[in-house]
Amino acid sequence: MYGVLSRSAMHSYSFHCIHCIGALAYGITHPTLNKNLFHYAYFALENLPFKRAMKTSQEEINDQPYKSETEQNNHSCTQLSQLGDNCDCAFDGAMITLVPITDAAHLVHGPNGCIGNYWGGRDSLSSGSLMYKNCFTSDMDESDIIFGGAKKLYRGILELQRRYKPAAIFVYSTCVSALIGDDINGACREAAEIIGTPVIPVDAPGFVGHRNQGIRLASEALLEYVIGTAEPDTTTLHDINLIGEYNIGGDIWNILPMLEELGIRVLAKITGDARYQEICYAHRAKLNVVNSSAKAMLKMARQMEERFHIPYITESFYGIEHLNRCLRNIAAKLGETELQVRTENLINSETTALNNQLDFYLPSLQGKRILIDITNLNNWAIVSAIQYLEMEVLLTSTNKITQDNQRKIKGLFGDNAKILEIEISQLITEFKPDLLIASNHYQATAMKTKIPFLDINQERKNAYTGYAGIISVAQELYTTLHSPVWEQVRRPAPWE
Ligand code: SF4
Repeated sequence: MYGVLSRSAMHSYSFHCIHCIGALAYGITHPTLNKNLFHYAYFALENLPFKRAMKTSQEEINDQPYKSETEQNNHSCTQLSQLGDNCDCAFDGAMITLVPITDAAHLVHGPNGCIGNYWGGRDSLSSGSLMYKNCFTSDMDESDIIFGGAKKLYRGILELQRRYKPAAIFVYSTCVSALIGDDINGACREAAEIIGTPVIPVDAPGFVGHRNQGIRLASEALLEYVIGTAEPDTTTLHDINLIGEYNIGGDIWNILPMLEELGIRVLAKITGDARYQEICYAHRAKLNVVNSSAKAMLKMARQMEERFHIPYITESFYGIEHLNRCLRNIAAKLGETELQVRTENLINSETTALNNQLDFYLPSLQGKRILIDITNLNNWAIVSAIQYLEMEVLLTSTNKITQDNQRKIKGLFGDNAKILEIEISQLITEFKPDLLIASNHYQATAMKTKIPFLDINQERKNAYTGYAGIISVAQELYTTLHSPVWEQVRRPAPWE
């Protein structure tokens, strides 16, 4: 019976990493645990223990001894940096969405490998609390898989609150805790009653889908447990929410001063550089501005429109054309003539200042040939900016590109845009570009071919939004192209 059930599990879900496959495989190979493990796998698949209440009473839970501080330290990591590939599962998407809430703690209920897959993958910056830079995990082991990990999770939440006092605690399920049917919602609810701090379950285990599915599930958790749970002291007619901006490299810090100058208040940032409390207020905004590259957050904007009657627009703060259109659309949606006049004035003065600053860079950049690999390009900002800098762009992709990316390319380059599905090294030989922009996988190719290389993705350190972002792109291209290192590496070696 157990074998049949485990096979059905493998057929029913797509697994994204070795941990979840390992959880089931362990049952086959372990001489003593296999029966128990499949027992849990069976019930999980039959959806029974998803509602399994914690079997231990409140008193029993409170009496559970805490582990020593040393042991606890071993079981949670602090800002574990991960240089490898991200796992790109739904859990990963949920973390990408919620971890930028800076004063909250983020607790992963699963084996510690899950958090290792995510942590340090994105450089979402904070202007205040660094609470979110800690990472916490219940570090489930084989005994938790057999006997259930909900009690351990409950104790972990209590301990986390006692030691760190975060504004809220987000608890993430993973494949393993979901498969064994741990009652995460129950543990969160009971812990929240004891500690008096919001504890939000995020039900996005890796096997439910890819990253975008996790982003949607995380935004549903915000809608269900956070948005609308508190009222702001004051509201204005110009309150907006920014949705799908994660403050990578400080992107939001280029946007906020512009909006402030126009008299527009960002009530809630969802979620880059956000505080937990501001997201509770988001239902009082007059407009939701959704980042056009965060399509998975659109459902949230639609639900907020239905539930709180907040209209939404999809905009981009990257590249001058998109940026100007975004500012105009916000002003038009907020519907005040004076605001629209202020917006036009700001666009004129900022564009003039930008062009003056670009005067220095343009002569060295105009006409340069750039090869951009869009296979994993998460940041289309740079493409808009490069066009403004009048550089010659060749696009390539080593995989079939998504429909969404095809739409973006058409939007940026028109119907004549061509994507060459040819090996990058071959293109470098034929096209002889002045610079390659690609993921860090191609760093070695660039080094071998001795051409300047720029790795621009979500781990970037610079902000590309706003008018200042275009200057950043120009500066980065300029310094990369004119680095003295290229002249040196192209010289023949002394022994040649
Ligand atoms: S949640 Fe993601 S990282 Fe964790 S076991 Fe599942 S697929 Fe792997």
